[in-house]
Amino acid sequence: MRQIAMVIDLNKCLGCQTCTAACKTQWTNRNGREYMYWNNVETMPGKGYPKNWMDYNAGWGKDGQLKIGELPQIPEEYGIPWEYNYEKVAEEKDAILKPEKEPEWGPNWDEDVGEGEYPNSYYFYLPRLCNHCSKPACLAACPMKAIRKREEDGIVLVDLQKCRGIRNCIRACPYKKVYFNPKRARQEEGIPGQTEKCIFCYPRIEKGLPPACAKQCVGRARHVGFLDDKGSHVYKLVKGWKVALPLRPDFGTKPNVFYVPPLSPSKFNEKGEPINEQRIPIDYLKKLFGQEVENAQKMLQTEMEKKAKGEKSELMDILIAYRQKEMFKL
Ligand code: SF4
Ligand code: SF4
Repeated sequence: MRQIAMVIDLNKCLGCQTCTAACKTQWTNRNGREYMYWNNVETMPGKGYPKNWMDYNAGWGKDGQLKIGELPQIPEEYGIPWEYNYEKVAEEKDAILKPEKEPEWGPNWDEDVGEGEYPNSYYFYLPRLCNHCSKPACLAACPMKAIRKREEDGIVLVDLQKCRGIRNCIRACPYKKVYFNPKRARQEEGIPGQTEKCIFCYPRIEKGLPPACAKQCVGRARHVGFLDDKGSHVYKLVKGWKVALPLRPDFGTKPNVFYVPPLSPSKFNEKGEPINEQRIPIDYLKKLFGQEVENAQKMLQTEMEKKAKGEKSELMDILIAYRQKEMFKL
């Protein structure tokens, strides 16, 4: 079985949400999918989407047991797209455009908030999609065997012929990247709706094209390829240079979206002088990307310094991504 993978360089992601818009316009802008973001970009540290998605106690336990957590509530934890008073504005001269009901939460609600006190405040962007895991908790949790992992590329798909809307997949996915679509209800069959998720743009993959989120990425932050292809950027970054790491490896699902962790600017002391301490706490990065994050940062730093001195660095050339087409090997 082959496995397709994506590497996202967090030092190049600028939080522009072009990937989010590319995905939404392609797949989720109607028919009960309006609240869904198969791809979204969160500001970290932050609560994310759905709210506090990391705290659902889902995925695989250390004892190898599957943990089927709680369901995030719609709309409370997701936020729904809200409507504006367009008609009032059109009809009344002095009316001001505003939401019809004051919203309390929504995707990207805490954008660019981050943590820390100025001048030591910090944040970074974390694009998220289904990880097309090698040990998918969603698949293991489905009593209808409606979720499958394709042999040819490891893409994880929901079979809508079989899904009966039980939602164990949503409960079990620790990344909360499966969504419920109530508009796919079939009352006569007792089906309350069905679940839907990122399909890694498989119709594009089958034509040798990268997923829309990667192709449209303004920051040239996303590399796509097969993990067994030694010539792909993905192989080189994950297995060669070992600078691309899975998100929350402790969830146990063996994700196939990997992240080049953010390098951190220095902290300032009270006199405003930079000190030898990272602004993003290393324990926070270890929680997100595992214990290897320090080694990955050191490798990135070393190669960056080499490049700055005018020496050759294959790693930096890959990450700079001079030619977009070289980022994708499909
Ligand atoms: Fe399943 Fe969640 Fe892994 Fe995607 S991220 S394959 S939905 S467990
Ligand atoms: Fe980041 Fe690229 Fe998405 Fe922009 S399009 S938010 S740079 S991953």
